[in-house]
Amino acid sequence: MPVGINFTKMSPELEQLIQLQHLESAIAEARAHITAHPQRIAEADARLAEADRVVQEASQRLKDAQKARGDSEKDAAIYQGRLTKFKDQLAAVKTNREYTAMQHEIETAQKELGAAEEKVLERMMEIDQLTADLKQAEAAKAAEKKTVDADKAALAAEFAADEKKLAEKTAGRTALVASLEPRLMALFEQVAKVRKGVALSMATRDGLCSICHVRLRPQVFQLVRQNDSVVQCDSCQRILYWVPPPAPTPPPVTIGK
Ligand SMILES: [Zn+2]
Repeated sequence: MPVGINFTKMSPELEQLIQLQHLESAIAEARAHITAHPQRIAEADARLAEADRVVQEASQRLKDAQKARGDSEKDAAIYQGRLTKFKDQLAAVKTNREYTAMQHEIETAQKELGAAEEKVLERMMEIDQLTADLKQAEAAKAAEKKTVDADKAALAAEFAADEKKLAEKTAGRTALVASLEPRLMALFEQVAKVRKGVALSMATRDGLCSICHVRLRPQVFQLVRQNDSVVQCDSCQRILYWVPPPAPTPPPVTIGK
């Protein structure tokens, strides 16, 4: 509904009903915002919790890789020890057969040591990558925290403004209702109840109800344009009012003609 309607030539009854509709709509809007507030806070918190979960997972993957590296280093140390022992024993062998067998053992131990050292290298590279991932996740979390803090501050300010608006509009409504004829109030409430809180509708210039878009009968449209009685839309039952088109502005004065 347009704000700042020119009420001249409009009946006081219609003026009051239009004002009541403004107040009712503003109250409903403020209430809806207030009701949605906890959910919006929860959504902001959930974004931060998700960023934190990513950090925890990255941190756990890094810890796992560090442990795996430690295990591979232990394996390498064991194979190294075995190799050293075999090399010492090689000096003490007495027969060719023993010598060949020992050389075979040494070869196997060397292969095992090489594989374990390879694994240590792989783990080190993996740890570099996981360290970078963790750093990135922590940076993303810090950025998300900033956004969430700002959003929550804005939400708190909005909530306070909505509560203030609700109190003001409710007081305005109470005062208006006290001066409104009970039959008008009853009509307003009856229509508002079945029309999602919107009991008034403007008639368009071409004679339609602006909300249900049904064409008004000519005599109804004629009555509505007089703006001095309560007329309802035949289709949606909303109370109709008329906003006269602005008076044509006079052409600009031309000087020096
Ligand atoms: Zn209608």
